[in-house]
Order: sequence, then structure tokens, then C-alpha cells
Amino acid sequence: MTTATPDPHDLFVIGGGINGAAVACDAAGRGLSVVLAEERDFAEGTSSRSSKLIHGGLRYLETYDFRLVREALREREILMARTPHLVWPIRLVLPHVPGLRPLWMIRLGLLLYDHLAPRRRLAPSETIAFAHHPAGAALKPEFRRGFAYSDCRGDDARLVIANLLGAEQHGARILARHRFVAARRDGEVWDIQLENAITAERLALRARALVNAAGPWVIAAGAAIDGVGLKRRLRLVKGSHIVVPRQWEGDHGYYLQTRDGRTMEAFPFEDDFTSIGTTDQPWEEPAERVRIADREIDYMLAEVNRYFRKPVQRADVVWSYAGVRPLFEVGGARDSDLSTLTRDYSFDIDHRDGRTPVLTIFGGKLTTHRRLAEDALAKLAPFLRPPRPGATAQEVLPGGDLGPDVESFEASLKRDFPWLLEPQLRRYSRLYGARARALLGSARALTDLGTPFGADLYQREVDFLIETEWARTADDILWRRTKLGLRLTAAAVDRLSTYLAAAKKQPARSGDPIPLPRSDGG
Ligand SMILES: Cc1cc2nc3c(=O)[nH]c(=O)nc-3n(C[C@H](O)[C@H](O)[C@H](O)COP(=O)(O)OP(=O)(O)OC[C@H]3O[C@@H](n4cnc5c(N)ncnc54)[C@H](O)[C@@H]3O)c2cc1C
Repeated sequence: MTTATPDPHDLFVIGGGINGAAVACDAAGRGLSVVLAEERDFAEGTSSRSSKLIHGGLRYLETYDFRLVREALREREILMARTPHLVWPIRLVLPHVPGLRPLWMIRLGLLLYDHLAPRRRLAPSETIAFAHHPAGAALKPEFRRGFAYSDCRGDDARLVIANLLGAEQHGARILARHRFVAARRDGEVWDIQLENAITAERLALRARALVNAAGPWVIAAGAAIDGVGLKRRLRLVKGSHIVVPRQWEGDHGYYLQTRDGRTMEAFPFEDDFTSIGTTDQPWEEPAERVRIADREIDYMLAEVNRYFRKPVQRADVVWSYAGVRPLFEVGGARDSDLSTLTRDYSFDIDHRDGRTPVLTIFGGKLTTHRRLAEDALAKLAPFLRPPRPGATAQEVLPGGDLGPDVESFEASLKRDFPWLLEPQLRRYSRLYGARARALLGSARALTDLGTPFGADLYQREVDFLIETEWARTADDILWRRTKLGLRLTAAAVDRLSTYLAAAKKQPARSGDPIPLPRSDGG
């Protein structure tokens, strides 16, 4: 069966990763009518598999990518205000290793990093002696000196949801689990075919402009757009992470130099864990098959164990994930080191006599999604009915209106819901920000939150995620909307799946079809 919506929308976005979500949010905020379709769950592609750093990228200074670093550092400041619950400061400790990068080089790099863009809230870098610094306690005694500098961590998958909620708030239509099949030019508009990824039902839409934000699948999506030949060659570069029980006291992370000249990070993760990553490996298979290799785990363990007193063992690994960076080649970089391929984004734009434009997004970083969207809308502006100016640099995304800061928001939540357990309150405030109040509603006791599923997951949160965040499967909830997959037992996951199967029999939101299959677990 084919359902048709008669009026052309202004913009159709392919892909519900961070870049598609940010474009939809920016465009809808300008008053454009927007539809976004994601084939799987939102952020199920690269945008839930990043290192979760909101950063300028210290190491890109080595490849002289100053413009990218400056722009990303500016975005770091904006995102701290736009999504304060999802982006938080972290102090990173960089041990000096004789024989690797010299002290003067690191010092110079950090000086630049401190000053390339205005830094209002984050402390500047400093030189530290580990004998007198708490970060030294976890390190082997041969590491004597190092540096500490500021960056931010963020929740990648939740940043995607926050942008989609922002888009929806401005009237965008957000379609989960709808595959873009093809688009054909018909005079002034695009005729777009979608397929419901669950029921195989076809849906037809019309839009004046297209944005291809399919990330690693950008070439395949582009091939289904009439008259668009994408000539760029994408390189898929795999990066993997392992998660182990918490390895040290304190909120700081470590930025570690590896023996092959790369860098790796180790961070506190979800309070009780440490995440370690990432690698840079060419990936030749389809992007959706990406997985961590045993030798990557060996490599990461060998490298971190050069630094830490307490060895991390293979048996400590409680979770791992891998993703592919969709990088594109510039000039003669084809055979160069994969870690030096640019992380910057670029666009192709194609149109017929000023009509039916399609903008294709190549590359990008989690950190620069807002700026990328602003640039994309500027490129499309000549083709669209005059929209309002963009306001994403000033606008706070849903959940971000916390008041002065996260800590005072948590204190107010504690006053109003004194029966909430401390870690649960903290988890709600970090995941949902001010929307935590909508989740909790009129609950007056833990028992008001309904069926407990394990850890601190209750029915009310599950329902909230189904009703307001397009969640359908246990994996959506446990690995993308939250990271409770780290804490739930197999029996608890089964209980949740049974509950979700029953919930799917109820009407779903946003025309999202039911039932849905299990996804691959992030
Ligand atoms: C290992 C790793 C670590 C990283 N670390 C960082 C970091 O710390 N900081 C940082 O700033 N950046 C980081 N990045 C980069 C960042 O994660 C990516 O730039 C970003 O997530 C890309 O988002 P995207 O929206 O372009 O792609 P994706 O998130 O992959 O989204 C594309 C979406 O399009 C959908 N799609 C594809 N085809 C179709 C179709 N036909 N119909 C409908 N939907 C379709 C896919 O299902 C997918 O969800 C990292 C990347 C990797 C791989």
C-alpha cells in the first residue's frame, strides 16, 4: 500500500545520526517544514559508537588542521550551553614518555589548544609532576611528568535524540525505521520513496530539497537519488572501544601516546566503568557489519598496560563496541596514515537550474554537528523559501534548560523527589536534563514508577522512552537511550523484551510502525 502526503515539504533528510538530526533541528527551527527518515534506530550508525569526546582534537594540530580545531573548540563552548546535561568538562592527563613526542612539542600544542578559541568555563592546561598530583596514583612510577588539559565528554546517542526532539518541537516529522529507497526529480520537487523497515509498507513524500546525511552509507543513498553521481571516494576507518570496571579514583581521564605514534584515551564511563579506545583500522566490509577484532583488544590492553599500575586483563572487558568513521580522501592522502585523514566535513550540492537541490554531507565530527547544520542550511538557502535566521547557537535543546548548572538542577530534583536513589537521580538528570521532571510526573514514591526491570530501570522510564523518544527494542533502551545494558542481567533483559513486545501491541507515536525486530546491540 502506498500512502501519499500531498504538499511538498521544504526539506527531506536521509539519516538519523547526529548530522541528519542536527540539520533537521536547524531547518525546522528556521520555520521550514522538514521530514527526516532513519532506516534503523536513531544513532544506531556511527553516532552511538564514537569516543564521546566533544573536543577540538589535540592530535589534529599535528596535521595542521588548525581551522577544524578552532571551529570544534568554539562548538565545545556552544554545546556546553545548548545541552548542559549531555556535554560535561573533563580534565585529561597526558603522561610524557621519553622517546615519544618531546616536552616542548606537547607544551606548544597545549598552549595553542588553550588559545585557539575563547575558553570561558574550562581551566587552562598545566604541567604536572605525578609524585604530587592525584592523577599519578594510577600510573606506573616511571611516569614522572606530564600535562593536564581541559576538554569535554558527551553522550553521542543522546545528543542525536536531543536534536530530534528539538526538530520535532519546531514541527519536523521524524520517522524511525523508515528506509529511504529512491528520489526522482519532478519539476520543482523531489518525489521520494520510503519503505517501512518493519512492514515493508511503501510511503511516498514530496520535498523541495534533499539532504543526504547517511554517514558511512552516503554513497549508497546518493546512488538512489536521480541524476546525482557522487565522485568522492569514502574511506571507512574502524575505531573500537573496550569498557572495563572503573580503574582509578577521580573524574579525570588519560590521553595516552601509543608506541606507533597514535594516541588513545581512557575515561571514567557511566560512573562505575572505564572506557578505553580507540583504534584506527581500514574497514572494507559493509559498514553495518563493523565489529571489534581480537587483535584490537590485544593492542589496546598492551598499550594501556604500559601506563597503569593495575593491569587491565582481557577478562575485565565487560563490553566493547566498534564504529566506522566515514572519512574522505583529499588530494594525495590515499595512502597516508589513516589517523591523518581529515575529520573535517564538506558538502556536494547538485541542482537543476536552481531547483530540486540535494546536499550531500561528507565526513564530520560529533563535536561539529551544530556548525555543520548551520553551514548546510546556508548552502541550501538560495534554493529554499526565505526561512527565519538560524538560532541554534543561542537556543537550548529540550532538556537543556537546567537553570544555573547541572548540580543545582540535581539539588532541586532531590528536593522535589527526595525518595529517588542518588545514582538514579543523577542518571535521570544527566540523560534527560529538565525533561526528568516530565518522566517523574506526579510520582511520590519508588513504587509509583511501576514494574522494576533491574538496576534502576522502572516501567515509567521505559514508557517515557517509548512515548517520547521513539524507543522500541531492548537495545534501543539499553544501549542508546541509556547505557543500562552494562548493568542488567540477561534475565532482566528478557523481562524488558517481553514487556516491550506487549507494549508494541499498543498504538505507537509518530506513525512509527510496530512490531520491530531486535537491533544489533550498539
Ligand atoms: C570510533 C569513532 C570515534 C569517534 N570519536 C569521536 C569523538 O570523540 N568526537 C567527535 O567529535 N567525533 C567522533 N567521531 C566521529 C563521529 O562519531 C561521526 O562524525 C558522526 O557520528 C557521524 O554522524 P553521521 O550522522 O554523519 O553518521 P551516522 O551516525 O552513521 O548516521 C547516518 C545514518 O544514516 C542512516 N541511513 C543510511 N542509509 C539510509 C537510508 N537509505 N535510509 C534511511 N537512513 C539511512 C544510518 O542508519 C545511520 O543511522 C568518532 C567516530 C568513530 C567511528
